[in-house]
Amino acid sequence: MKKTALITGATRGIGNEIAKTFAIDGYNVVINYLNSEETAENLCRQLYEKGYNAMKVKADVSNREEVEMMIKTVQNKFGDIDVLVNNAGIAQQKLFTEISNLDWDRIFDVNVKGVFNCSQMVLPKMIQNKKGKIINISSMWGLTGASCEVHYSASKAAVIGLTKALAKEVGPSNIQVNCVAPGVINTDMNADLNNQDIEDIKDQTPLGMIGSVKDIAETVLFLASDKANFITGQIISPNGGMVI
Ligand code: NAP
Repeated sequence: MKKTALITGATRGIGNEIAKTFAIDGYNVVINYLNSEETAENLCRQLYEKGYNAMKVKADVSNREEVEMMIKTVQNKFGDIDVLVNNAGIAQQKLFTEISNLDWDRIFDVNVKGVFNCSQMVLPKMIQNKKGKIINISSMWGLTGASCEVHYSASKAAVIGLTKALAKEVGPSNIQVNCVAPGVINTDMNADLNNQDIEDIKDQTPLGMIGSVKDIAETVLFLASDKANFITGQIISPNGGMVI
């Protein structure tokens, strides 16, 4: 029987590539989105036309009721969720002194509460099945901190703490919880970087390049597979050696 993977924020960037990679690997893929309805529909159609199973579900991961509805909708179509990839996230660059209460809360609501909401809603079935994988997408900045992204860095550090603690709690139920903390990846999130910024980042990176969405998707696919059954509570940071 096909396994089902729910990928939050799967319309663009890293999530989009994770969805395609999982579909090709034979998963039923659930494409969660918030705003990009048309992109979600196109991705679903593309996958469907190639013979893969995919569905799209709208939900703001920070909204508990919407997440609850999303999980029920997925379970009705595909049954139990085997893999949850908590990828949806937002970033913002601001001086610390200019971060508003609203900025702070929105970053934490999406990046941390979103992981809490989705994980808490899928776990009861995983615990019952004594099987499941949760993969959280943090960031290299959650490990080291980024200037002018204090709220983002703090939220991604929280995801790392959540991963470690939850891995200990649900390990006895044979559920692996791991975290991928990417370096700089070429997506819309970095659209404001100009060519010089990109060159500067490459110069600071031992491997001399920025990452691709494929680099992250392959890491996530590995962590979701049976090859990673003995790995839990770990933070893997594909970052070209920028943070070691
Ligand atoms: P992106 O291109 O900006 O895409 C973000 C995705 O998240 C979109 O699909 C968006 O959906 C979705 N999303 C945003 N808020 C949401 C919400 N409240 N509920 C549901 N979906 C929501 O971002 P990305 O660069 O691929 O980043 C993906 C993840 O990797 C994030 O957690 C990010 O922090 C992390 N990351 C990225 C980098 C990087 O360099 N790009 C580095 C380290 C970590 P809609 O299109 O429908 O709005």
